[in-house]
Amino acid sequence: MTRFERPRSVAEAASLLAAGDWALLAGGTDLYPAHVGRPIARPLLDLSRVEGLRGIRRSDSGWTIGATTTWSDVVRAELPPLFDALKAAAREVGGVQIQNAGTVAGNLCNASPAADGTPVLLALGARVVLQSARGERELALDEFVLGSRRTARAADELVVAVRIPARSARARSAFAKLGGRRYLTISISTVAVVVDVDTNGAIVEAGVAVGSCSAVAQRLPALEARLVGVAAGADLAAMLDPADLAPLTPIDDLRGSAAYRRDATATLVRRALREVASS
Ligand SMILES: Cc1cc2nc3c(=O)[nH]c(=O)nc-3n(C[C@H](O)[C@H](O)[C@H](O)COP(=O)(O)OP(=O)(O)OC[C@H]3O[C@@H](n4cnc5c(N)ncnc54)[C@H](O)[C@@H]3O)c2cc1C
Repeated sequence: MTRFERPRSVAEAASLLAAGDWALLAGGTDLYPAHVGRPIARPLLDLSRVEGLRGIRRSDSGWTIGATTTWSDVVRAELPPLFDALKAAAREVGGVQIQNAGTVAGNLCNASPAADGTPVLLALGARVVLQSARGERELALDEFVLGSRRTARAADELVVAVRIPARSARARSAFAKLGGRRYLTISISTVAVVVDVDTNGAIVEAGVAVGSCSAVAQRLPALEARLVGVAAGADLAAMLDPADLAPLTPIDDLRGSAAYRRDATATLVRRALREVASS
């Protein structure tokens, strides 16, 4: 490691980024394990002390999750049922030590196909806010994560926040994860379901997304469309058609075969749908 800087403001971080080729560091729970046994070649820009980047704020247009908000912050935050899926995912990111250090933005920026935050934030319709000395821009999450370990972040940009659009107080969500064991495991499949509901109890908006079954987490648009207009308390699990999983491209690996992943995902989708129907 040649140089280490710990800026105190977004402006300072952006100006350092404009002038050099930095590796960005938040909680380090992805970055450090990726360098076991070899030094980090690039200078390190530690974002953990940048003021104003940590915490979850509510405004009329929705919620803003600051980039250095940790998974433990998410677990502890007072949030409406819309965020139950994000809280459930947060409780399953590694163990408590990992949740104390690991950040929501780090999970997205690392762009692992098995990142637990990505399907939940996709289902929530999240947008990623990027800042550089050139200015700010905002991308839908599916425009930000482009592939395995690949994002649309330019070298001089940092992610400053993730924005979640406002929903009604009746909106709710559920998360289901399958791993080789209960904790500290890389996901075989993850499913997030988000629904917003009108005053008559009918679903007005649905988000369903699956992680670990393609290079990038995928939404299931056919299922989402079919859920709209249905009573939220109905037998939603029965609405899954196996053809809804068409956007997924699971692989065979040591954690599971493609066929097993597809089968398990159908079970997880039904489980998550049952949970939102009963909440
Ligand atoms: C034992 C263990 C268990 C784990 N279990 C899980 C799990 O169950 N589920 C899961 O999803 N993940 C898991 N992880 C991975 C990791 O903890 C999460 O992905 C975490 O959210 C990463 O956040 P971080 O702040 O530590 O990222 P870092 O390691 O600091 O950074 C990760 C990447 O994102 C970049 N980055 C970070 N912040 C920014 C920013 N603001 N702007 C631009 N780029 C940025 C960094 O440059 C780096 O490339 C586990 C890790 C370990 C070590």
